[in-house]
Amino acid sequence: MNRDERFYAFIVSTTTRSRSYVRRVSIHKRWVKASALVAAFLFCAAAYGVYGLTREAVHLRIERENDRLRLENERQRQKLRKLENRVDAIETDARRLSEISGVETEQGDESGTSTHGAGGPALELSPEAVERLETRAARLEIDLRIYEAALRERARVPSIWPVEGESTDSFGVRGNPFGGGGAEFHPGQDIAAPRGTPVLAPADGKVVEAGWKNGYGQTVVLDHGNGLTTRYGHLSKIEVEAGQELRRGDQLGQVGSTGRSTGPHLHYEVRVGELPVSPKHYLPAR
Ligand SMILES: [Zn+2]
Repeated sequence: MNRDERFYAFIVSTTTRSRSYVRRVSIHKRWVKASALVAAFLFCAAAYGVYGLTREAVHLRIERENDRLRLENERQRQKLRKLENRVDAIETDARRLSEISGVETEQGDESGTSTHGAGGPALELSPEAVERLETRAARLEIDLRIYEAALRERARVPSIWPVEGESTDSFGVRGNPFGGGGAEFHPGQDIAAPRGTPVLAPADGKVVEAGWKNGYGQTVVLDHGNGLTTRYGHLSKIEVEAGQELRRGDQLGQVGSTGRSTGPHLHYEVRVGELPVSPKHYLPAR
C-alpha cells in the first residue's frame, strides 16, 4: 500500500448528559499533503506580492527624486548660463569703458580662463565652470574700479569752453589794454561774449572763492584737485557760493565787465599751484 493512500483518522466524541456519540473522521493523507502545498503556495504568492509592492514604491520614490534633481539641475544650468551672459555683457561694457577712460587693464585672455564668445547651450554645470565665472566677475570688479577712478580724474580736468565766444587776448605778454603804452603779463585767456552769456564749469570742481577780487571784478575760483584751479573774472553775476561742488557744464555765473575791464568778456585763467598756465591746453579746438 502506498504511503499516501494512508488515512489520518480522528476520533471525535460528543457527550451530552444522557448519551455520547463517538465518530471517526478520516482524511486521506493525499489531501492533507495537497492542502499543505496549496497553503504554502498561497503564502509564497502573498509574500511575493508584498515584496513587489514595496519595491515598486521604492522605485517610484527614486524616480520622483530623480525627476526633481534633473529639474533642479536644469534650473541651475540655466541660472549659470544667464549669469555667464550677464558677465559677457558687462565685459563688453567694460571694454568700452576701457577705451573711453584710456586705461588698459590686463584682460584675462592670456590666462585662458575667459570663455567670452564660447559656450553654447551645452554649458557644463561643474564647480570649475562656476569658479571660472567667479574669477571673471572678480576681475571685472577690479577693472571697473580702475576705469571709474580714471574717469573721475579726467572729469576734474577742464576740457570744454567755459563760454561761447571769440578768443581775444591770449595768455602771455601783451600791451596795456587801457592804452598809455607799456606791456604787461596777461595770465589767462580772454573770451569776448555779450553780457549775460552763461559761464560754465569746464570740469568738476569745488567753488573756493565767489566774490569781488581786485582787478578781476566779480570772480569765481574753482578747485579741481591735484593743485589745479581755474578762475573766471569780470562776471556780471555770480550764481554759486563758496563750498559748492560743481560738475562739468554747471553754470557758475554770467559774462560781464566788472573790475579792470574794457568791455564784456570772460577772463579765464588756469593755475597749477600758484602758477598761471596757458588755458589753450585746456580748450578743445573748434
Ligand atoms: Zn583777461
